[in-house]
Amino acid sequence: MPSHSDIVVAGGGPVGAAFALAVADSRFSVTLLEARQQAKSPISQRTLALSYGTRLILERLNVWQTLQQITPIRDIHISQRGTIGVTRLHASEENVPELGYVVEYRALDAALQTALADSNIAVHYGTSVSASGGNRHLAWLNWQTKAASGMLTSRLAVIADGGNQTEPASQKQQKQYDQHALLAWISSERPHMNEAFERFTPDGPMALLPHGEGFALVLTAAPDKIRHWISLDENAFLTALHVHFGDRVGRFLTVRDRSSFPLRYSLTQHSAKDHRIFIGNAAHVMHPVAGQGFNLGLRDAWELANQIHACSHRHELGSTDMLARYQRARRLDVSASMLFTDQLVYWFTLADPVLRHARGLGLATLQQWPPLKHFVARRMMFGAQAW
Ligand SMILES: Cc1cc2nc3c(=O)[nH]c(=O)nc-3n(C[C@H](O)[C@H](O)[C@H](O)COP(=O)(O)OP(=O)(O)OC[C@H]3O[C@@H](n4cnc5c(N)ncnc54)[C@H](O)[C@@H]3O)c2cc1C
Repeated sequence: MPSHSDIVVAGGGPVGAAFALAVADSRFSVTLLEARQQAKSPISQRTLALSYGTRLILERLNVWQTLQQITPIRDIHISQRGTIGVTRLHASEENVPELGYVVEYRALDAALQTALADSNIAVHYGTSVSASGGNRHLAWLNWQTKAASGMLTSRLAVIADGGNQTEPASQKQQKQYDQHALLAWISSERPHMNEAFERFTPDGPMALLPHGEGFALVLTAAPDKIRHWISLDENAFLTALHVHFGDRVGRFLTVRDRSSFPLRYSLTQHSAKDHRIFIGNAAHVMHPVAGQGFNLGLRDAWELANQIHACSHRHELGSTDMLARYQRARRLDVSASMLFTDQLVYWFTLADPVLRHARGLGLATLQQWPPLKHFVARRMMFGAQAW
């Protein structure tokens, strides 16, 4: 382990790894510290909906080309249980080949780790960052492995540890959603035809994402209800899901790999300060309702890499000016995405019958108003900025 590197990345998950790849050909040295052992794939069973904008970035990183088991999303059907208003988004109407893609977190991780292995980045697996800090001149990270520990200084420390270790809770605006997400693989009577379904229910939003021959299910509800869903035997689960979701893809035939996650909101207060920058889930954690968390984090990584490529001298790295430029560039996208997702969960879970009908009317209006629908689709694909 060196004692100094121009850029240090704490966390080699999807966002940290993508960032490291995006600066691999810069003029600066890059060291990445990842807590997992090299051969150990992540335990997360989640599937991710990647936006079309994310595909464009992953293509430029040469990661898309090796990504396995990608299922395209060409249409998105958004509805609310108990009302008739529906919105449908179509790739053909947005002039893109696909609106998005569904991949397993593990497959994305595997493609990124392969690309890292082929790059010139010094990756240290099995190395946890236990603390970090900074001052006007540089940042420091405390690291530890099973056998050793030490300190690494850098001009720029990029914290991409998913919000796990290095920032005290007092530095974050946080809340629990009092909802858990149930994840599973489902097969259905009718094929998915590359259509994703987003359905708002009084319990919480649910999504069926086309994946391989079936669907990846993300169902959100209060923790005790999710425990109940998980405890059901297979037939009871499939019947309950049919009642919950409706008949759009016919009956559900099989379910496997049910697991659950608690859901929270978290926003780091000072995401760029004293030669340190927090990106991805280390900076912001959102509800998965709109499938935006990784997409937003990747746009952090891409913007930060662009700022670094624009630095002609080492002393500019992590400088107050550079950090301020990064924050200015990311402010709108991060705040708009966090607010949109949070408000979506809030308004669509209020039980008031008047509001329920207003929401149904809102979905119907969105369907009938192409400019607004186009705006929503572009935001979901590219975030709140021009590309
Ligand atoms: C149920 C669910 C469904 C989701 N669906 C979607 C979706 O459809 N689309 C979407 O865009 N997003 C989705 N997300 C969000 C998405 O999973 C995250 O936004 C994304 O994983 C964030 O990536 P990250 O690299 O910032 O953090 P993480 O994925 O958490 O990776 C962090 C990495 O840092 C490493 N690490 C942790 N601590 C340390 C340490 N102390 N030192 C060194 N390394 C460390 C970890 O081993 C890991 O490799 C979903 C999330 C959930 C919970």
